[in-house]
Amino acid sequence: MPRPELEALQLRRLGRLVGRELGSLDELQSLPFTRKEDLRDGYPLGRLVVPREQIRRLHASSGTTGKPTVVPYTRSDLDLFATVVARCLAAAGAQPGMTLHNAYGYGLFTGGLGFHDGGERLGLAVVPVSGGMTERQLTLISDLRPDVIACTPSYALTLAQAFSERGIAPEEISLTIAMLGAEPWTEAMRREIDANLGVRAVNVYGLSEIIGPGVSSECSEERSGLHVNEDHFLPEVVDAESGEPVAEGDRGVLVLTTLTKEAFPLVRYWTGDITSLDRSPCSCGRTLVRMSPPAGRADDMLIVRGVNVYPSQVEAILLELPELTPYYRIVIARTGTLDEATVEIETSEAGAELQARAERLLLQTIGCTIAVELRAPGTLPRSEGGKLSRVDDRRRT
Ligand SMILES: [Zn+2]
Repeated sequence: MPRPELEALQLRRLGRLVGRELGSLDELQSLPFTRKEDLRDGYPLGRLVVPREQIRRLHASSGTTGKPTVVPYTRSDLDLFATVVARCLAAAGAQPGMTLHNAYGYGLFTGGLGFHDGGERLGLAVVPVSGGMTERQLTLISDLRPDVIACTPSYALTLAQAFSERGIAPEEISLTIAMLGAEPWTEAMRREIDANLGVRAVNVYGLSEIIGPGVSSECSEERSGLHVNEDHFLPEVVDAESGEPVAEGDRGVLVLTTLTKEAFPLVRYWTGDITSLDRSPCSCGRTLVRMSPPAGRADDMLIVRGVNVYPSQVEAILLELPELTPYYRIVIARTGTLDEATVEIETSEAGAELQARAERLLLQTIGCTIAVELRAPGTLPRSEGGKLSRVDDRRRT
């Protein structure tokens, strides 16, 4: 859809959502943000705006503190969910008739059922394997020969490594497309997954409060920024402190408004994810705005000796060194009043020189001292199918 037409559609839908006619999309900025705490206050279904009999499914997001956020869906919301995930699959190159190995967790988490419905909607055969039991995953992939896999990026690495340990080369694996999301990851990790699983991996973004996966995803043509399905989810990027919109291309917090959801519409939802927007045309032909891969959630951000540090940033820096692997963990401890940050990272080429080079690179790029400890391959925790926690913050205990 040409952008002027798309923006007219957004304006009509936004007017319907807020119950009055609007002159321009900028009027959205006069409305307050909705924050995670607001949703928590309404637990479990205080914000439901349709009769309860119209709910067809309930998902819940894992709350790091206290109760989860419960998200209800009507028939039409589930239809929208399947549609946007089907779009993501198509943008990644999936076609009707292909088979999808769905290794996202099935359950309250939106990843499993979201990709399940989206895959069926596009006309794929879906294998609902869910996360975990890596051995069984390898058997199913070898025997059913799926074209597409959906899972977290850290689990894609686990699978790639398991294949390699069994002597199966990337070109022998039937997969060609990987739909990866639910945790921040880097270009270095993508190169690793592409090469070792023999796929073209794309980034998929979403959050259950908004719908689940399918808010945005990369096209296989460019893989440079995630096209937001903005006819349904209107994005803004604002300054984390002032809440004012930032200039196009500048980084800030992603704020989303659902334009077509029924049971649980959200106006200006503060996602906490750090991104930037790019409205320049894309070679794939889509006119949908592109968001940069979220650099991490504002609340995932670590403050080490007063410096803001994102785990994904540490990963991106260290993986510039080809000797290091994407298996790492950040440990933060407090000695007296000082924070001590240490990155434990696996490599088969341990040595004092490599360690010093890694520490120097972190200091130069981030601006604070982070110690690096080299570990033997296979010694750090692996993803078992769910999200992998990269940070062990011992200051809180
Ligand atoms: Zn594109």
